Amino acid sequence: MSFEKFELHTKIAAGVEALGYKVPTPIQSQAIPPIMEGRDVMGLAQTGTGKTAAFVLPILQRLMRGSRGHVRALIIAPTRELSEQTHQAIAQLGRRTNLRSAPIYGGVSIHGQINKLRNNVEIISGCPGRVLDHINRGTVDLSHVEVLVIDEADHMFDMGFLPDVRKIVKHLPTQRQTLLFSATMPDDIRSLANDLLINPVNVKIGHTAPVETVTHKFYPVQMSAKTDLLKDILNKTEMDSVLVFTRTKSRAKSVALQLDKSGYKVTSLHGNLTQQKRQHALDGFRDGRYEIMVATDIAARGIDVTRISHVINYDMPSTADAYTHRIGRTGRASKTGDAFTFVTGEDRGLAQSLARVLGEKLQYQNIDGLTMTAPVYDQAPARRSSHGRGSKPNNGGKKFSPKARANTNSRPRQRSFDSSNRSQWAH
Ligand code: AMP
Repeated sequence: MSFEKFELHTKIAAGVEALGYKVPTPIQSQAIPPIMEGRDVMGLAQTGTGKTAAFVLPILQRLMRGSRGHVRALIIAPTRELSEQTHQAIAQLGRRTNLRSAPIYGGVSIHGQINKLRNNVEIISGCPGRVLDHINRGTVDLSHVEVLVIDEADHMFDMGFLPDVRKIVKHLPTQRQTLLFSATMPDDIRSLANDLLINPVNVKIGHTAPVETVTHKFYPVQMSAKTDLLKDILNKTEMDSVLVFTRTKSRAKSVALQLDKSGYKVTSLHGNLTQQKRQHALDGFRDGRYEIMVATDIAARGIDVTRISHVINYDMPSTADAYTHRIGRTGRASKTGDAFTFVTGEDRGLAQSLARVLGEKLQYQNIDGLTMTAPVYDQAPARRSSHGRGSKPNNGGKKFSPKARANTNSRPRQRSFDSSNRSQWAH
């Protein structure tokens, strides 16, 4: 399929060509037609999927017709970087259109922005706080907005911006098109979508599978006990293929070495390897010669092995986004998977933000002699209305139990699972 089928205005098609886009990405194929029809769209997709062009192209197409000189599209994003990126995408894709966009975010002088807004822009790509600031100062008029985009809504929620978003929406015409994009769909985003979108078309792309098919478990542990805990889990859990994540290259190497000494079929993947060694590691992991791969985030990008049954975060990922990306390695192609994460005392902030992203209390596991007492900081925020995914009907009963595993594991069981060691503190 090519971009031609969208029948974009020639000036917009020129922008697509100039950027070298030949084939639409999956989210573009799915989202552009309904957006061009004027439908509201809820897109479950992450950055990196091509989602920016998925909403920018139809917006440009729409704005080619009709009047100019006032704000007709408002794109709200959680960070300056994202606002700036979107502004750049509009500038590049719309370079021949003479449509103008302004990036509106905090941390820079508001006066320059006021001047830009006076110069009659058609599109704003901004962050909620600064957009609200302009509304309050009367320096922006949003009464002509036809399209509202809420980008990375889950980040927006994480950063406490949803009340600002709701305030901004009150200044927009009720007759408009609304598009909401989010990598995950916690309850608060779902309820925002219910309030703002009318009969939306749902589009799901990329790493969304883990949200529904992966069970998340957390182990409070001291740094010094992590390797023993890892071995204990590997010994007692029935597993197919396991991807272990570490924060650094040297730790990936040393953990792999220790597992190798203990007799596991293990390989590692990190930036210090030659291309040949990387390929050997990847091929061996794919064809089952290695059951375990210890990797760093960067090295693991793009690993697409459908039968990874477990992701173990030996080191906590540095952002909630990185967590979503890591666990996206399991639960692929509708298979179920388990994500185990080791949490040290230093990881407390990350654990809190993960609880928010997952929309549930973290399920802390207790393994005698290896884990610490359950931290008290693991409570999901009280403002959540629902108890979390575990109580949702669409979770499919994917709890890690011998029975559930039997359904999903096509290979012979190599290790047995001892459920007597497991207890859950968080519930
Ligand atoms: P995004 O997810 O919108 O941040 O896009 C990720 C990257 O993919 C950006 O560098 C885009 O320029 C690029 N991109 C978007 N759509 C396409 C496409 N159809 N073909 C090639 N690259 C694309």
